[in-house]
Amino acid sequence: MATAGDGRSSGVGGRIHRLEVENFKSYKGMHTIGPFFDFTAIIGPNGAGKSNLMDAISFVLGVRSVQLRTRAQLKDLIYALDDRDKEAKGRRAYVRLVYQMGADELHFTRTITDAGGSEYRIDGRAVNWEDYNAKLRSLGILVKARNFLVFQGVVESIASKNPKELTALLEQISGSDELRREYDELEELKARVVMERKQKKAQKEEAEKHMRLQQELKLLKTEHYLWQLYTIGKDKEKLEADLAEDRQSLQQVQEKNQSADYELAAKKKEQSGFLKKMTLCEKMMAKKKLELDKKVSGFLLS
Ligand code: ATP
Ligand code: MG
Repeated sequence: MATAGDGRSSGVGGRIHRLEVENFKSYKGMHTIGPFFDFTAIIGPNGAGKSNLMDAISFVLGVRSVQLRTRAQLKDLIYALDDRDKEAKGRRAYVRLVYQMGADELHFTRTITDAGGSEYRIDGRAVNWEDYNAKLRSLGILVKARNFLVFQGVVESIASKNPKELTALLEQISGSDELRREYDELEELKARVVMERKQKKAQKEEAEKHMRLQQELKLLKTEHYLWQLYTIGKDKEKLEADLAEDRQSLQQVQEKNQSADYELAAKKKEQSGFLKKMTLCEKMMAKKKLELDKKVSGFLLS
């Protein structure tokens, strides 16, 4: 049997040194089993108590009674010669695991009380299960022991495991399955961060594109306004040229108009001269006619 918590692989450099059992299963009275070495073999005929020793280790490490090849009752783990013995009062049993760290020893004791319950002690001091378990855990024994204790019949089941199941077992043994939740959470967080980063990047790119287009629009607008200014300037120049031309022709027309006015005035003067002459001539003609009439009548009378 390989012992759990050997010096080379333990995180804190300790090892299970020995087991002290009293009235545990087939171990009647008090027995010290050990010391254990890096490699220790326990041999004996069928029913000698080899598996019971494994059970004792499991028991002291807090493994539940249902996993200890018993019927659910812890009391069944107490030594009993026969059924009558089982009924006897004041029956107790304990398993003490002596853990060695350098020159120091740590005693883990689990007792089955006559009431059939469990009692846990560290170095003789009663503690609750949580503290007991926490201490075992802190020493790194628990995970190793729970996973390296290979019970009779389990070898075959391990041998027949498929790669996926073996991986699960290895993860359980190495303790990495305890980190699975955290790993999965971190993995999820990572995925979330990656996605957020992607989104942020896309948003940034979108914003940059927007800015670029805005800049382009600004340039185009400027160009458009400049073009408008240019055509307006051109139109203005043309209109000014047209205006100047029109002004010139207006001036010419005005000048012509003025000279026509002068001519008209001169002609009017000339006309009035002629009219005066005409009037004189008419007067003269009337006078001459009168004189002629007089002469005619005078001629006729004579
Ligand atoms: P195998 O080589 O067949 O696997 P083993 O050495 O592993 O044998 P165990 O299973 O450790 O043998 O011991 C079995 C013996 O322990 C049986 O004889 C059984 O009667 C005895 N035993 C189990 N529980 C008790 C108990 N509460 N009181 C007394 N004896 C018990
Ligand atoms: Mg056996």
